[in-house]
Formats: sequence, C-alpha cells, structure tokens
Amino acid sequence: MSTIRKLKNYVNGQWIESKTDFYEDVYNPATKEVLAQVPLSTKAEVAEAAEIAEKAFATWSRVAVPRRARVLFKFQQLVIENKEELAKLITLENGKALSEARGEVQRGIENIEFAAGAPTLMMGDSLATIATDVEAVNYRYPIGVVGGITPFNFPMMVPCWMFPMAIAVGNTFILKPSERTPLLTERLVELFSEAGLPKGVLNIVYGAHDVVNEILENKQIKAISFVGSKSVGQYIYRKGSEHLKRVQSLTGAKNHTIVLKDAALNDSAEAILAAAFGSAGERCMAAAVVAVEEEIYDSFLKLLTEKAQAIRIGNGLDDGVFLGPVIREENLKKTIGYIEKGVAEGAQLLLDGRKNAPSEGYFIGPTIFENVTTDMTIWQEEIFAPVLSIMKIKNVQEGVEIANQSEFANGACLFTNNASAIRYFRESIDAGMLGINLGVPAPMAFFPFSGWKDSFYGTLHANGKDGVDFYTHKKVVTARYPEQDI
Ligand code: NAD
Repeated sequence: MSTIRKLKNYVNGQWIESKTDFYEDVYNPATKEVLAQVPLSTKAEVAEAAEIAEKAFATWSRVAVPRRARVLFKFQQLVIENKEELAKLITLENGKALSEARGEVQRGIENIEFAAGAPTLMMGDSLATIATDVEAVNYRYPIGVVGGITPFNFPMMVPCWMFPMAIAVGNTFILKPSERTPLLTERLVELFSEAGLPKGVLNIVYGAHDVVNEILENKQIKAISFVGSKSVGQYIYRKGSEHLKRVQSLTGAKNHTIVLKDAALNDSAEAILAAAFGSAGERCMAAAVVAVEEEIYDSFLKLLTEKAQAIRIGNGLDDGVFLGPVIREENLKKTIGYIEKGVAEGAQLLLDGRKNAPSEGYFIGPTIFENVTTDMTIWQEEIFAPVLSIMKIKNVQEGVEIANQSEFANGACLFTNNASAIRYFRESIDAGMLGINLGVPAPMAFFPFSGWKDSFYGTLHANGKDGVDFYTHKKVVTARYPEQDI
C-alpha cells in the first residue's frame, strides 16, 4: 500500500477527501522525491464549496469591519511566528533558494498586513451638500464568493495577493492553488483558521481544468482572480467574462532591462543576475532581455558572465545555493528546446546552462545568449527559466524602441545615473512596473501589480487600491433632509 499522503480539500472548515479517482504526484523538484498526491477534484466539489461559501458570506459580510480586521492581524502574527516553516515548505515544493522563499513569505505577510487595514481601505466618500438639503454618501460592500486560481511560482505570495484582501472586505473565497505547489496553501489555511476565521469563509479545492472550469461557470461565484500564463489567462478572462463575472487576469511576461554607459557596472551586473537567475528565472518579474549601450557592451558582458559562472546551483535548502531547479521535467525539456532554438536561429551562447547542471533534480544552469534579435523565438517568447538574452544598443531610445515591440509589458528596468534618460524611459516604455537601478521592481502590497498589454487582462489589478475596488462594489445614497423645526 502506498504511504504517500493524499491531500484533502478544505471546505466549511474541514479537511474532506476528494471524490475524484485522479491524483497527481507533487514532487520536490530538487530531488524528484514525491512529497504528496494532490486530488484533481471534480466540478461537483467546487459547486459544493460555492454553496458553503455563499452561506458563509451571509454572516461574514455582516461582521463589523474592525472585527474582521482583527482576524487578519492575528493571522499575520501566526504567519510571522511560522515564517521559517513556511519558507522551507516553499523551497521543498517549488525549489527556489531558501533565502528567496523567506522573501516570498515576507511579501505574503505584507499583503495580510495591508488587508488588515480594511476599516480605512473600505471607507467611501461623502459630500455634505450636493444640492439644497441633499447629501450623498458612497459606501463599499463585498461582492460575494470569489474564486482564486494561482500559479506554481509563488505558492505563498500570489494567493496572498487575493484571499486576505477579498476576505478582509467581507467576501468568502474558494482557492484553487497550482497542482504543482499545493502544500503551502494547506498550512496557510490552517493558520488562518487558528486566527479565528469562521468556517466556510476560505475554502480550498485542489485540482486542474475541471475545478477551473466550474469556477468560471458557477453562478454563485461572482469574481475571479487569476495569475498564470498568457494562454490560460486569456481563456480565463474570456470565459469568466462570458459568464458575466468580474475577472482580473495577470499573465506572462518578457521583461526588458537597459544598461547605459554611466551605470554603476558592478552593482548593475549583480542586480541583473539576481533578477534573471533568482528563483530559476521562474518569476513574472524576471529579467529576460538585457540591452547594453555599445560603449560598455564588452566590459559589461565579461563582468556578467564571470559572475554568472560563480552562481551556486543545487538544492535550495542547502547553504549558499542561489539557483534551484525548475519545477518539472517538462519545464527542463522546454528550456533545453529554447536553448537549441536560440543556437539554431543564430544567437551566440556565452554560457550554456546545459553543461553545469546537477543531474539529480530538474536543474539547468545560468544560460546567457548574446547577439539576440527581435525575430528570434528566445526574444519573443516567455521562457520562464534561467535563460538571459543580451543585445547591443546605441542609446536608451533604441533600447525602449526594441522593448516596446514585445507583446508583453509587465516590468522594465533601467540602470543609469542620467536623469534625462530616466525620464525618457519612464515616459516612453510600455510596461506597468518600472525599476530604476534595481532588478526586480515588484510593487509592494499597497501599490497595484500593474502589467500592461498581454501581461494583464482586465481593468483592476491585484493589490493596492485596485484590489479593494476589485473585491467591493459601491452603493451611493443620495438623501434629502427637508427642513424641519429642531
Ligand atoms: P499556468 O497558466 O500553467 O497555471 C496557472 C493556473 O492555471 C494553475 O492553477 C493551473 O492549474 C491552471 N491551469 C493551467 N492550465 C489550465 C487550463 N488549460 N485550463 C484551466 N486551468 C489551467 O501557469 P504556471 O506555469 O503555474 O505559472 C507560470 C506563469 O504564471 C508564467 O507565465 C508567469 O509569467 C505567470 N505569472 C504571472 C504573474 C503576474 O503577476 N503577471 C505572477 C506570477 C506568475
């Protein structure tokens, strides 16, 4: 008999065995060890969870906002107390280095902290006199049951973009985590429950397509937050909208970085390497293309390559390891396919990650291509692995002009001390999250995570005031107070 643990869904405050016959193995990508099995739950199980969540909404939405906020404060405290355990779980199931996993938990904590500000964030506007004896007040209300569908690359941070805020403002939630990294959410929901969250407010239904399709179609689910790849994000946005739901769909990326001749070269190289190869390049804010001004091109490339060669690859739980594995064998094969395609299409391989990777897990070393052009597949497509493309440019204008040809527009970075170049870059680049002299400009919880073009479908982004708006609707009361004796 198999001793591998089978995960259960979490519905109405209870762990419930799925009715499915289909389970998928959850691997440690650094060792290929099977950690658990995740159910590919049925559509009916989502419908049951929606029923429960709708019932819970009737009471949770009426709990006074400061009381709801107190549960969030307690949850945040418990997450802080369990930070190390959560970080290790992330490394175990995702593979990223423990230092990165700790950073991810911290990001999640900041999201919970921001959501705990619900009493202030939910305040509406008012105008005492809009006409003689008439006033208007705008109140915010939660919208109902929300569905969240999340990717494998941030098992903690991305779900924390969604359910803490949705729940703090009075909604109930059904989360479908990535079937490749389901373990962390199991622990998170336990901590939220320990903090005093009532039954049925946060539910987890594990699975894949069937669970997603029921979230898209179910009438009791009013809004959908999705984070994942472009093709799935398009499907979610189209199908969710067809079913007349609110949808925010945060999708793929191909982030461009420009290095100008006056940049601090050593610091820039280190920031770019961390942005390109940290989390094995499996970040929607990863540096994917670096355009370097011609005057410093040779010296910068030498620096970058030397530093990249010194990166330690291995199990993310081991001290000093910076680069962990990619998530699955298929991702490894796909990455090797991209490297082969890059070579076939004429790019020059400066550092070949196929040569220096440990064989026990799904490892690929830092890979750097130069002489990359916009007609190449490795320039156009999101690789989502530690593969960096380098281009030579004459000036910032050329760098921006190249970057703006991309279908994606999540993040973009500029390394320089030239104020005019910074202003030009800010005004001209098509991207929603910009970094100046830093490599990963992921906004903090109180700002929107604001991708453009094919990196986002919808109107209201995750986080910041956008998050509050997405998870609430408004009621404007216009009231006349006829004059009376008082
Ligand atoms: P993915 O699109 O494969 O999966 C995301 C979610 O969608 C998972 O829960 C998965 O089960 C589900 N899913 C996958 N295929 C589906 C299908 N055919 N029908 C219905 N549901 C399906 O993405 P991933 O590989 O887990 O994550 C990597 C992607 O996420 C990258 O493209 C990355 O850029 C993107 N991402 C974007 C952001 C952002 O903020 N824009 C943040 C993190 C990750």
